[in-house]
Amino acid sequence: MLLTITSSQEPATDLGYLLHKHPDKVQSFALSFGQAHVFYPDTSAERCTVALVLDIDPVGLVRSKGLFDQYVNDRPYTASSFLSVAMATVFSTALAGRSKARPDLVGQALPLEATVAAMPCYGGEALIRRLFEPLGYKVMVSGAALDDKFPEWGEGSYYTVTLAGTLPLRQLLSHLYVLIPVLDNDKHYYVGDDEVAKLLRHGEGWLESHPDCEFITWRYLKRSRRLATAALGQLTPEENITEAPPLPKDQPPPLQEQRVFSVVEQLKTHGVKRVLDLGCGEGRLLRHLLEDPAFSEVVGLDVSHVALDRARERLHLDRLPPHLDGKVTLWHGSLIYRDRRLEGFDGAALVEVIEHLDLAKIPIMERVVFEFARPRVVVLTTPNKEYNCLYPGIGKGMMRHKDHRFEWTRQEFSDWAYRVGERFGYSVEIRGLGSEDPSVGSSSQMGVFIRDDR
Ligand code: SAH
Repeated sequence: MLLTITSSQEPATDLGYLLHKHPDKVQSFALSFGQAHVFYPDTSAERCTVALVLDIDPVGLVRSKGLFDQYVNDRPYTASSFLSVAMATVFSTALAGRSKARPDLVGQALPLEATVAAMPCYGGEALIRRLFEPLGYKVMVSGAALDDKFPEWGEGSYYTVTLAGTLPLRQLLSHLYVLIPVLDNDKHYYVGDDEVAKLLRHGEGWLESHPDCEFITWRYLKRSRRLATAALGQLTPEENITEAPPLPKDQPPPLQEQRVFSVVEQLKTHGVKRVLDLGCGEGRLLRHLLEDPAFSEVVGLDVSHVALDRARERLHLDRLPPHLDGKVTLWHGSLIYRDRRLEGFDGAALVEVIEHLDLAKIPIMERVVFEFARPRVVVLTTPNKEYNCLYPGIGKGMMRHKDHRFEWTRQEFSDWAYRVGERFGYSVEIRGLGSEDPSVGSSSQMGVFIRDDR
């Protein structure tokens, strides 16, 4: 996790006075969740850059706080509320607007540039611009594909963001302190009443006039309606707010995340505890099943050894904390062979898998899953072909991925699903996944199959 701030106001090394950190030194600070290091990669008179590197200790977090969630997710590697806390600790004097040696510099507008690497933001580049541009920054954003090998997954939710502007350092630090967790839409700690005071302190002079003041307040306070109302009441006292403000619209998460959330939600709604992820790929769904205590036993099956190896790596299966050790097992296998190991589970998920099988093999997969493995609940998703016309990169007659053997319209999918339900004794519910277009429906579609046990 990396934040750099560059000043180009000569002598640029004055930055050291403002930050209370000597440009010639490397300093390290112990934080409750890891180590923060401060050093200056560039210390010329024309350009001086300070770097704050945060080295989060995921194992320590698990041991000290039992926060497993912090252990397998992106927290150690992305700019999140951990970075805000580190900034508040390491640059506390600068953030409070004090400088012992050079008080004259504190209020001075300086030509500054800040870069935050790997900033998570579900709202994408548009949201980053919406939040920083009204504060007068020139904003540069570069995103990255979620996975270079799977272009159809689209862009990830991580961005490297550079902000350039002429303003006092203290203001730049306050903007970052407040807006990094707003973009990430999460905080690693409990948000209580004192968080309102923090927001008012660090938002002073800019937040009340920001066009997205409500949205920022709402997200900063972790979407607590009570705290947001209290903060907004103080930010705009003359309006004498008596009612809670309308809830700002949140950006939806990307499709693949929505898909996983919906699948997990269905499995939980139907009381599934022991679950199969058939065609688990690199473990996107497995990660959620592993973290969620609603599931007691999880098996990922895939025909690809490479995918299984990556899943094992990504989930850190060889170094899980004791209470999760052994919860997930990965099996090499294929959906077109009967496999007795798959019998006796409560539920199974097939997320964007069937379209990777030849159409001729679909009836075999049906028997393997619905006749032999026969879990009580099957949740299955597949693309909605009709929606492809809304993707700029997909021409007429093309499919979303080179390995797709077919893609179905909504009618084709529901015909198939009801036929399977009828034949194997499952009741079926069909749902759309992702934002819905009035004429072509949603990007992906989901069938929830519940075994008739009467
Ligand atoms: N469910 C995952 C992966 C989807 S990609 C996700 O949502 O991210 C499709 C996966 O199905 C690939 O990992 C591929 O290896 C797997 N697959 C293809 N044919 C299969 C078969 N016959 N049996 C089991 N898995 C198969």
